[in-house]
Amino acid sequence: MHRIRRSLAAKIALLVGLPSSLLAILAMELLRLPPRAGWTAGLLVVGICAAYGLALHTLLHRSLGKLVQAIERAERGDFLPRATVESDDEIGELARRFNAMLARITDLRVNEIEGERDRQLLEDKVRLSEQLDAQRAQTDETNRRLQARVRDLKLLFDLSLSINGTLEIDELLRRIAELVGLSLGARETALLLIDSETGDLVVRETYGFAPETDLRGVRFHVGEGISGRAVQSGEIQLVPDTSKEPRYTGYQGRAATGADSFLAVPLKFKDEVVGVLGLTRPGVDSFRPEEIELVGSAANQCALALTNARLFQATVELSLTDPLTGTANRRHLFARLEIEVTRALRFGNDLSLVMIDVDHFKLYNDRNGHPAGDEVLKGVSAALTRTVRKVDTVARYGGEEFAILLPQIRREEALAVAEKLRRSVEQIDFPHGHAQPGGRVTISVGLAHYPTDAQDLQQLLRRADAALYAAKNGGRNRVAAYSLGMRPKPLPAELDKSKRPAERAS
Ligand code: GH3
Ligand code: MG
Ligand code: MG
Repeated sequence: MHRIRRSLAAKIALLVGLPSSLLAILAMELLRLPPRAGWTAGLLVVGICAAYGLALHTLLHRSLGKLVQAIERAERGDFLPRATVESDDEIGELARRFNAMLARITDLRVNEIEGERDRQLLEDKVRLSEQLDAQRAQTDETNRRLQARVRDLKLLFDLSLSINGTLEIDELLRRIAELVGLSLGARETALLLIDSETGDLVVRETYGFAPETDLRGVRFHVGEGISGRAVQSGEIQLVPDTSKEPRYTGYQGRAATGADSFLAVPLKFKDEVVGVLGLTRPGVDSFRPEEIELVGSAANQCALALTNARLFQATVELSLTDPLTGTANRRHLFARLEIEVTRALRFGNDLSLVMIDVDHFKLYNDRNGHPAGDEVLKGVSAALTRTVRKVDTVARYGGEEFAILLPQIRREEALAVAEKLRRSVEQIDFPHGHAQPGGRVTISVGLAHYPTDAQDLQQLLRRADAALYAAKNGGRNRVAAYSLGMRPKPLPAELDKSKRPAERAS
């Protein structure tokens, strides 16, 4: 039964062969054929049926079987082998159409494979491009950080180069305010230093303020305002919004206050705050943390440079100052003389040199002691300094002798100043002054003027000295201007090389 159900040939054989045989038997019965003929006819029918079955098997079963095999292969996914087309009949047509369908499926499969590959490629491309974008973003971020770092290092380098290039404090302050202000994009920068006398914080230099706003000299007590707090705490003070910070006073009300950001950075050297750098930027919260860190490093450099410059200035001042009187010393005098004489020679300016010697000072010392003599020297130098202008140089020339440079005044004016100097000392009531020969401590003054009395530095010195000698010879406590024929004070015999040893001894 199973076989019949599964075989078309069996079904045809059953449906055609069986009725045909029955019909043949029925026909023989009806025709009443003799048994022999009946058997023959029966055999014929059986033979026809067998031939019929064989034909069906060959034509249907085999051809269809091959087709089924091809379909089975296709079912397994093997689309390449084709069904064999053995005839032009319906089965051949079926095989051909099946093959056509296979070809179509193969094409579709190829398309599908190609599509899949394209999709895969596209996905790979998208993934790679995403990776590339991520990497590019990372590189951009790294670049940005590096650029910021390079910019920071460049600022520190430029700053160090610039501020280490000068030991002059005002110039240093100017460079710091400008360079830090510019590099950090501050709208306004102020540099405040601690005043060593009062301990206050004083604005010494500014950059970026409106030209009419001169803040120099504005003071803060330690702890006062934001800058004062930076000194007190030694820490950077950040005001994200100056309009909301009651302690922010805008440089004691002398600079504009709006909704800005303000940074007060202490300038610290070895835990000592020497000043404060105040930076203002427009807008609320406009200082980034890395900028605050950078300005902290810059401030350390500035503090170091400032301390160096101050030390240097103090050393220079010491090396140029007479410790007893606080006036310029001989070295300073000669340096200034060089400058002033060169200027006078080049521009034809007037220049007077005044030489001063305290009268009978040995006597004063001998009577009253060296410390009392020192006090006289201090008093005399203070009187001299008070009497002249700021541009004049008062120097202790040696012992109880002083020299004063009076640039750019005419000879008569210089003479008047010399007389004023003489009088200024004469008027001082020094202790025991009344016991001096003139009843007071007095000075003798000699003056030489360029270009009237001298043509060069050496001549100016010699002739001022000669005039002083003349004033001494003239009776002391007087002023003498150089005139022809005046001779310098002769050297003590033991120092005068023009004399023979025997003469020197005499
Ligand atoms: P003359 O009127 O001729 O100038 O007489 P004089 O006594 O002033 O002149 P002299 O040159 O003989 O004496 C100068 C004195 O100045 C001698 C020295 O002891 C004194 N002297 C020099 N330097 C100092 C100093 O630094 N302090 C004190 N107290 N005295 C000094
Ligand atoms: Mg003397
Ligand atoms: Mg003297």
